[in-house]
Amino acid sequence: MVEKCLAAVAVDKNKTALMEVQVPMVSENDGLLKVEIVGVCGTDVSYYNKEIEPKILGHHVVGYIEEVGEIASKNWGVMKGDRVVMEEYIPCGQCEFCRTGEYRACLATDPKYQGIRYGATPLTESPSLYGGFSQYMYLHPNAVFHKMPKHVPAVEAAITLPLANGFEWMCIEGEADPGKVVLIQGPGQQGLACAIAAKYAGAEVIVTGRNTSSHRLELAKQIGIDHIINIQTTDLYEAVHEITKGKMVDIILDVTSGGLEPIKSAIKVARKNAKVILGAFKYQTLSEFDIDEIIQKTLKIIGVRGHSYKSVSMARDCIASNKFPLSLLNSHNYPLEKTDLALKTAGGIGDPRPLLVTVSPWL
Ligand SMILES: [Zn+2]
Ligand SMILES: [Zn+2]
Repeated sequence: MVEKCLAAVAVDKNKTALMEVQVPMVSENDGLLKVEIVGVCGTDVSYYNKEIEPKILGHHVVGYIEEVGEIASKNWGVMKGDRVVMEEYIPCGQCEFCRTGEYRACLATDPKYQGIRYGATPLTESPSLYGGFSQYMYLHPNAVFHKMPKHVPAVEAAITLPLANGFEWMCIEGEADPGKVVLIQGPGQQGLACAIAAKYAGAEVIVTGRNTSSHRLELAKQIGIDHIINIQTTDLYEAVHEITKGKMVDIILDVTSGGLEPIKSAIKVARKNAKVILGAFKYQTLSEFDIDEIIQKTLKIIGVRGHSYKSVSMARDCIASNKFPLSLLNSHNYPLEKTDLALKTAGGIGDPRPLLVTVSPWL
């Protein structure tokens, strides 16, 4: 029985510190995970850039069941030694959202309503180990698990949740399938994960970016994406017109940070009946918005967040299929004591050229 473990705790704005944290006794209803690897998410970076109550960040967590209570083992369908990928949500299981499978909307797992979830819960919430940047993580009775086959390399398993968003947004919401053309604006971790999901579903996929993301566009090519467009050197509309022989795009996703121009370009390259999917907050309002074009083209504009149980399973199966060289996406893998640098790197102010940044607590 482990008594204490090391965790990288976000203690203040732009600061994490390695601390010893008490490991809880496991009861019949809960368990303990030995963290193998954790992917750094944009959400971790935004917490890191704010003044927050001390907490262990990290919610793209893969690990091995270290201990599990008898009832929990039956409820979760896992045993000691199983390799699992965790969802960040710790839903109540009882509300209308939970009962209709939409547990990501459950208020009990929303930090805005004092809910708890992995990577966003203060140390003061017992038993503190609610984040992945730690040697061990507490397994709450309401945690959500997916088994991860042991042949999958850790750095690939760590992409499960971003890829799950990809399947949710592209395949479940967007209904990507063979014969459809998909355009992804924003070739970051989330954009490329969406590109992979759409490609896996059989769609023809275009990824766009700028000069600053040219290496990511090249990477998109290497992992098998059909077309890349640098919108600073090529006219987007013209290029899409040529690729699609004038048919234009069925599903357009915006996951660019900051600017509003991609929203306008998304509507411009859309064909009739297309879906425009918005997955990145802009923190500003859009003026000069051509509503008539939306009506004229009978577009569907969809806001998306997070993943469902089904999309995480789809992502896991896609990774386990070995169809894509996903290890190429892992730009940096750090030991636990370098969690601070991992967060800086993922935020663009640490080591150069970040994409999928991970921390392996036992490295
Ligand atoms: Zn995340
Ligand atoms: Zn609920």
